[in-house]
Amino acid sequence: MNKNNIISIDHLNPKNKDVLAVNWLLTNLCNYRCSYCSEEIHDGSITPLEIEKILNFCTNLIQNAKSKNKEVFFEFNGGEVTYFPKIERLIDHIYDNGAKVGVITNGSRPLKWWQSIGHKIDSVLLSFHLEFANLDKFIEVIKFLEKDSNRKVHLNVMIIPGRFEECYKAAVKIKKQSLASISLQRLLENHTTENDTLYPYTDEEKRRMIEFKTKRYLKRSVKKVISYVLGDKAYEARGKMLKTLEDKSSKPVSTDELVTSGQSRFKNWECMAGVENLAIDWHGNITRGQCGVGGMLGNIKDEDLNLDIKPIICNRDFCYCGFDLLCTKNKITIEG
Ligand code: SF4
Ligand code: SF4
Repeated sequence: MNKNNIISIDHLNPKNKDVLAVNWLLTNLCNYRCSYCSEEIHDGSITPLEIEKILNFCTNLIQNAKSKNKEVFFEFNGGEVTYFPKIERLIDHIYDNGAKVGVITNGSRPLKWWQSIGHKIDSVLLSFHLEFANLDKFIEVIKFLEKDSNRKVHLNVMIIPGRFEECYKAAVKIKKQSLASISLQRLLENHTTENDTLYPYTDEEKRRMIEFKTKRYLKRSVKKVISYVLGDKAYEARGKMLKTLEDKSSKPVSTDELVTSGQSRFKNWECMAGVENLAIDWHGNITRGQCGVGGMLGNIKDEDLNLDIKPIICNRDFCYCGFDLLCTKNKITIEG
């Protein structure tokens, strides 16, 4: 027995087992044209799916999940998803049907847009893109969103190679004025290809990015302590995972840690992708995860879509996507 071998990956918060997380690319339309982003991710070339079909699918998925005592968490991404036509109607519909909504956004919608709909959004991941964003307006939106302690807010600051100092300065300003978790995001040379490579940041830049995580600012620290004492109620459909080793000991693990330590290899394991996770692309095609294992399950427009999905045996050498890693996986032991 090698006591360092992992035999299962579970949710650290057992409640997350009862959440079906849906990662949905709703639109490839974006109001920005970031230099590090591929055309097809922001050029709006894909005709949006009909809203009635989307609402119908959401209703069916929510009802199916409810019949299994599960909750659905829809996390919408783009392009810039807040510019998806009828996004407000979609959020209203999910809210009225008792499911949860998250958006991954560049935060460029004016404050009044967030004020009108923000109370129906449970989780917001905002990314700061220096080439196009207005820093003060971005901070204004964050401050509004994090006022509601039931809402999960996470911030990414994209670190543009060659403009490190400007991006870093913006990140410091944001961190000083916000309570939300914040990451400096290293960029990939081409995030649409399989062989993604990071831009060549200098060693000094890498060091400062790592140290940024632990940097503390007095006002932020005091506010954080107060919010901890009052109780952090933020909605979190997915969080850290728990790895169990052959000797039955368990400890929390992040997806980053699994990938960087080479432990995200689950070939021939039983995986709950499809049961706990679903991924939907710009055309409405549904897969268990971004990995595509098990092939296409159908399209949101299908009348006879089977939503009773069983776990699958993984056939991939490597599980690399953060979303895919956030579902239960068990090593299959062969007796005898
Ligand atoms: S905000 Fe995001 S989707 Fe839009 S251009 Fe920039 S990286 Fe691409
Ligand atoms: S690659 Fe897909 S099937 Fe394999 S472990 Fe990851 S999510 Fe599961």
